[in-house]
Amino acid sequence: MRPRFAVFAALAVATPAWAQASRTSQSTPPVLIKAGRLIDGRSDAPQSGVGILIEGDRIKAVGPVAQVQGQAKGARVIDLSQMTVLPGLIDTHTHLLLQGDPTAESYNEQLLYQSTPYRAILAARNARIALEHGFTTIRDLETEGAMYADVDVKRAVDRGEIPGPRIFASTRAMAPTGMYPIVSDNWELELPHGVQPVDGVEGARLAVREQVAHGADWIKFYSDRRYYFGPGPDSVLHSWVNFTDDEARAIVDEAHRLGRKVAAHAIGSDGIAAALRAGVNTIEHGDGMTDSLLDVLVAKGVYWVPTVTVAYYVAGPRSGVWGPMVEHQRRAFTRALKKGVRIVLGTDVGGFPWTELNQAKEFEYYVQYGMTPMQAIKSGTSLAAELLGQRDLGVVAPGAYADLVAVAGDPLKDVTELSRVRFVMKGGVTYLLP
Ligand SMILES: [Zn+2]
Repeated sequence: MRPRFAVFAALAVATPAWAQASRTSQSTPPVLIKAGRLIDGRSDAPQSGVGILIEGDRIKAVGPVAQVQGQAKGARVIDLSQMTVLPGLIDTHTHLLLQGDPTAESYNEQLLYQSTPYRAILAARNARIALEHGFTTIRDLETEGAMYADVDVKRAVDRGEIPGPRIFASTRAMAPTGMYPIVSDNWELELPHGVQPVDGVEGARLAVREQVAHGADWIKFYSDRRYYFGPGPDSVLHSWVNFTDDEARAIVDEAHRLGRKVAAHAIGSDGIAAALRAGVNTIEHGDGMTDSLLDVLVAKGVYWVPTVTVAYYVAGPRSGVWGPMVEHQRRAFTRALKKGVRIVLGTDVGGFPWTELNQAKEFEYYVQYGMTPMQAIKSGTSLAAELLGQRDLGVVAPGAYADLVAVAGDPLKDVTELSRVRFVMKGGVTYLLP
């Protein structure tokens, strides 16, 4: 396997550290990281002068450098004493198989004129971009017509064939017949579907079983489409609901029965309400949140993944309702913070091109919208890990996976530092060195 990594090292102009990556963790010596400042993902305050001892793919000890050094005999030292160390970042809403879809044309172009193998090659590149930006874990929320290729990318990463984050894959997503692109006037053509078309309660259960059988870690469905504002100054953002309540409940029930959680794309208030009635675990986008819907989120412990970066990106090209939706969401976000809604970082990268914007932009929006930098960091580390049900991620603590990043400055003073990650480690393997 090693020669394959050497090939990557040769190609990796920006990341010579890749050459040091090793997957035979048992035989490698422990690593001692000296962190100038540590934001551990859970604590409310940073700590100074911290030692992090790593054995294999896990963190063994965290504490004052002098103390940890005593347990670190023979350890390789990585000196980050001039930097701020954080847990690896987590993006809970990505599309590895998509290269931006601000317009219907840009979406159709990919589904009609690019083969799934070609799209999977780009997805492998995107996985690497995510990792080099410090995102050591992602929840990839559907392949947009590329079937189960996300599971293949995940396997290639897990087996060490390509660099990439830990991937929680949701495969194809679901919408009823005719309610998701590509829909054409030309009924003579059978066009590719951006999702698995699913109809009826039995169809819903079968689709969940198929997706789980092909490796889905999460199930996603599209709760709504066709967004519009109601009348009045406090106009509510409405939408057309896709599934009947029975169908949506069947999706959620079958997914939960098989140990999978459910994400719902829900933009309008009607779509959000329908998804909550069905018992989903996360609401994606959620632009049309009302006070009463936010109360339901709190009461039921449902997470909100707002994907602000994509909202700004598509507002111009899509025009119409998409611009006012951004402002509507900003106001709902502020109210959600006051109510204690668990807002988790997700960007919808792939909705904007991976090569154009760093996903970490999302942190900046959350701070602009009223989070403290520490709250924003938690939403993209420990709280995101909680959404995923992964206790060993999103935190720098003994027993957790050694997924770490470092930035040169203090992200609590300037959150844009998170867009300039200088060090990346995943599972004890270093992918980027300062
Ligand atoms: Zn999305």
